[in-house]
Amino acid sequence: MQHLMNTYARLPVAFAYGQGGWLFDEAGKRYLDALAGIAVNTLGHGHPRLVSALTAQAAKLIHTSNLYRIPQQEQLADRLASLAGMDEVFFCNSGCEANEAAIKLARLYGHQRGVDTPAIIVMDKAFHGRTLATLSATGSRKVQAGFEPLVSGFVRVPFDDLATIEGVAQHNANVVAVLFEPIQGEGGINLAHHDYMRALRRICSERGWLFMVDEVQCGLGRTGKWFAHQHAGITPDVMTLAKGLGSGLPIGACLASGRAAGVFKPGNHGSTFGGNPLACVAALTTLDVIESDGLMLNAHALGERIRAGFASALANTKGVVDIRGDGLMIGIELDRPCGEIVQRGLDAGVLLNVTADKVVRMLPPLIFSEADADQLVAMASALIRDFLRA
Ligand SMILES: *Cc1c(COP(=O)(O)O)cnc(C)c1O
Repeated sequence: MQHLMNTYARLPVAFAYGQGGWLFDEAGKRYLDALAGIAVNTLGHGHPRLVSALTAQAAKLIHTSNLYRIPQQEQLADRLASLAGMDEVFFCNSGCEANEAAIKLARLYGHQRGVDTPAIIVMDKAFHGRTLATLSATGSRKVQAGFEPLVSGFVRVPFDDLATIEGVAQHNANVVAVLFEPIQGEGGINLAHHDYMRALRRICSERGWLFMVDEVQCGLGRTGKWFAHQHAGITPDVMTLAKGLGSGLPIGACLASGRAAGVFKPGNHGSTFGGNPLACVAALTTLDVIESDGLMLNAHALGERIRAGFASALANTKGVVDIRGDGLMIGIELDRPCGEIVQRGLDAGVLLNVTADKVVRMLPPLIFSEADADQLVAMASALIRDFLRA
């Protein structure tokens, strides 16, 4: 550890292997995984179809280069474009890179339309990543502090608030795009109203702005649809994906449609690793299993079950402010900072997370079973009650 750069406050545990919704540490103790590597392990741990697909692909080819055609990448692009009803896809390796691509695309789009200093509307409490442009787009001082000067060209507005955006539309001729999360993850599991998303979509169409959704955390089946914005019955111009796409293999994607398609030309953007054969097979297998095993339906049903379970287990518990979420993206807001619950969960054998100081966040794998869900409710509600009583 002493040679690792000190960028994480790590918990004192290391896992040796995993199975489905469970992880096992080096001493053999088991933990219910309600975090899935922060919404990454869509198929849980050790999924036999993923393991065999990756093993077979690794034996054939891991990486070639984007200097050549990559059939697995073409297949994955076809698949994602069809699921999203969008036109084209750029592949990278992470969420921040997907958002970098979206930000560059929006700027280039602006320049092509004669806007010399293009601006992108972003939201309070947003999280878009840790690179310079994406931390500048992020709505958290904690993420930005010490890294000034920030990248310019972002206009910040309150989340889920239409009036401010209409105001910006009247006064700022440089705006070329809006970037936002349909459900804010790091910001505390904050859901945008469907009416708001539809209105925003309409304003973007009227103004010629790109409607860009960051679905890095909420996308890929977690909310019971392929993508969270689909609950509002709309299609974005740009969408970014990463976390759950490869079930643990690093892969990110930036999709574009309509006016946003065809903006990038050869030489405008690139990635050495982006969309290599192994990562694309991980993503193709993830999509296959989500579809064939009905995992979106599972995510929806278990989400309802878990929230109902918490609502009854935590009814009349003083200090519980709100229980919210969609599908397997769940937050329980308390009336005080509760980071301590994470260590208590570790001791009890359940992996939880706390975000935005006061929100206990759960992002279980989409292969969770009803038994896993019930156990999560029992364990987490006991921890929350004990914490609030202390
Ligand atoms: C995690 C996250 C990112 C950043 O993804 P990285 O892979 O860590 O770069 C961006 N946007 C959202 C909504 C996220 O949850």
